[in-house]
Amino acid sequence: MFWERDIETMPRKELNRLQVSRLKKTLKQAGHSPAYGKIFKAHRITPEKIKTLDDLKRLPFTTKEDLRKHFPYGFVTVPKEKIVRVHSSSGTTGRATAVFHTLKDLEGWADLVARCMFMSGVRRGDVFQNMVGYGLFTGGLGFQYGAERLGALTIPSGSGNSKRQITLMGDFGTTVIHIIPSYALHLWKVFEEMGLDPKGDTQLRIALIGAEPHSDATRQRIEEMYGVEAFNSYGLSEMNGPGVAFECPEKSGMHFWEDHFIVEVIDPKTLKPLPEGEEGELVFTTLRREAMPLIRYRSKDLAAIFPEPCRCGRIHRRISRIKGRSDDMFILKGVNIFPLQIDTVLMTLAEVGTNYQVVLERENFEDKMIVQVEVRPEFFKGDLRQLERLRRQITESLKSEILVTPKVELVEPDTLPRSEGKAVRVIDRREM
Ligand code: AMP
Ligand code: ZN
Repeated sequence: MFWERDIETMPRKELNRLQVSRLKKTLKQAGHSPAYGKIFKAHRITPEKIKTLDDLKRLPFTTKEDLRKHFPYGFVTVPKEKIVRVHSSSGTTGRATAVFHTLKDLEGWADLVARCMFMSGVRRGDVFQNMVGYGLFTGGLGFQYGAERLGALTIPSGSGNSKRQITLMGDFGTTVIHIIPSYALHLWKVFEEMGLDPKGDTQLRIALIGAEPHSDATRQRIEEMYGVEAFNSYGLSEMNGPGVAFECPEKSGMHFWEDHFIVEVIDPKTLKPLPEGEEGELVFTTLRREAMPLIRYRSKDLAAIFPEPCRCGRIHRRISRIKGRSDDMFILKGVNIFPLQIDTVLMTLAEVGTNYQVVLERENFEDKMIVQVEVRPEFFKGDLRQLERLRRQITESLKSEILVTPKVELVEPDTLPRSEGKAVRVIDRREM
């Protein structure tokens, strides 16, 4: 079942040819922007020099710093009258960046999101509730236009206001939700408070989850809690937003759309390309963008490309679950740790509730890691020894995953801070 069968199952050779011809066009277009105009001149780059995909590897990278340096219009290739929308990244790391779109860009983006949604099983007749922030964040309008393109009935409910979200689900018979995973865990508790069970009291069947790193254990929890199939959705505002890579029903990696993007994996330190299958930083080149094409954009997101063909029949390759941004990694006592590793351990344990937080502190020149974990309410009613056993079990499981022993603190539900958008999992107080 394909949204665009010809494109999704196009033979590799043909797809590569398409990529080369679109890459040439993209370079030509990019050259019209003041920023790339200068860069291309300095590196003597002309589209005619591109003959194969390997030629791309000789072009310089574009970084977030480049986007900031030329903020706001330096990478725009068209007259302002042709730009109809701007989006901006969440700015979790430094100043936000702006990405501009023409009407044609928005259409291409909507098509990609529709393709992803269709792949996960969303159809006309579905009622789609988009529970993320609208506005500059791309998850709101990005999914809105994609779902409309697909032909679903859309409820643009936006983020927050949990009770109202649940009421809307009941009123309109929502069957598909788009939701940030940490918020999905929280919302389940609100169902409980309202005396409802999302499994029996809603018509939900599909959850599209993404925008932040999360483990497969978190996905499985969401599937069990809501009685749905949950699909991982990956995107970044510099590459439009959602619609870059998405899970198919095989749920083993996310297909990235090679007719719209060329994806490379590089070693973030040496900047050399890595062989397929090895984990590194994802680098993107847009192939269809008009207002603001980007060449070899360094995403800082870490993942690997799976070269094997997928059983679903799509030719477009897959990337692994995103391990996080290289900036998410922290070093404790010389050990590199990703928040995703902690997520995997905690979300596998049934006693663990729906929220947790990692605090890093420095005391007498020694680094400490405190993992605060919300625990299911029944544990606070019961026996203290049971609680202590659980605390030790969590400590041991974390230790065997991350190789350092954290201090685990068990707390009652709803005591840890929560954000409405992407979760903030790690608070590093070591520099303060
Ligand atoms: P923004 O451009 O502000 O929307 O943020 C995009 C970033 O969110 C990406 O570069 C990733 O770091 C993160 N992100 C988005 N989707 C996912 C996902 N499915 N899994 C892990 N991280 C994600
Ligand atoms: Zn597949």
